[in-house]
Amino acid sequence: MKLILLGPPGAGKGTQSKLLETRYGVAQISTGDMLRAEVKAGSPIGLEAKSVMDAGKLVSDDILVRMIGERISKPDCAKGFILDGFPRTVPQAEALDKMLGERGIELDAVVELKVDEAILVDRISGRFTCAKCGEGYHDSFKQPKAAGVCDVCGGTEFTRRPDDKAETVKARLEAYNAQTAPILPYYKEKGRLHSVDGMAEMTDVEAEIEAVLRGVGVVAA
Ligand code: AMP
Repeated sequence: MKLILLGPPGAGKGTQSKLLETRYGVAQISTGDMLRAEVKAGSPIGLEAKSVMDAGKLVSDDILVRMIGERISKPDCAKGFILDGFPRTVPQAEALDKMLGERGIELDAVVELKVDEAILVDRISGRFTCAKCGEGYHDSFKQPKAAGVCDVCGGTEFTRRPDDKAETVKARLEAYNAQTAPILPYYKEKGRLHSVDGMAEMTDVEAEIEAVLRGVGVVAA
């Protein structure tokens, strides 16, 4: 399975791609997670990316295309992958097409998660994760069952992404509308684009994505 999940920040790409990763046994590739790991490691890419990410802007296409090229060559991608957060510009989408073409790989589907902008700000600004295992929570929608204790690993420390602050979220939404939304007609013209209601219940969104995948001949292992 080769799937791209598209949608604005907070649409549920990360949540859905993790669910699909488990169900289909393919690699989940989040360029946001990869960049945050570079920032944490203090690598040259991380040093360059940090201020751009903190401002809610997009890191350069060159860096991202190189990162994805290396990532999809890794053995765990042989069975397939779910791209979460890439491509984010038309030049990235064109570069991806070229890379996949050179490797004889064809995309199965591009799924857009549609969510109203007013809802996105609430969704993003309340989220936090367990510092130990990365399990995601939300101030309003998903608190840990025991206050301050991770349901999954029992960890007691939690983190919030610096770019989830309300003022940065605004810049991220602007970047999405200006630079990422133009990818939708790009994939529509290629007959690859499927839209799913990202405001439905999490399990219903997952079921809708699975229906799209079945429709293009991809079934869970
Ligand atoms: P995300 O976790 O997908 O919301 O990404 C967090 C931040 O990482 C974004 O706001 C961008 O600054 C950067 N980023 C992630 N993926 C890309 C990409 N494909 N192109 C450019 N910047 C990216």
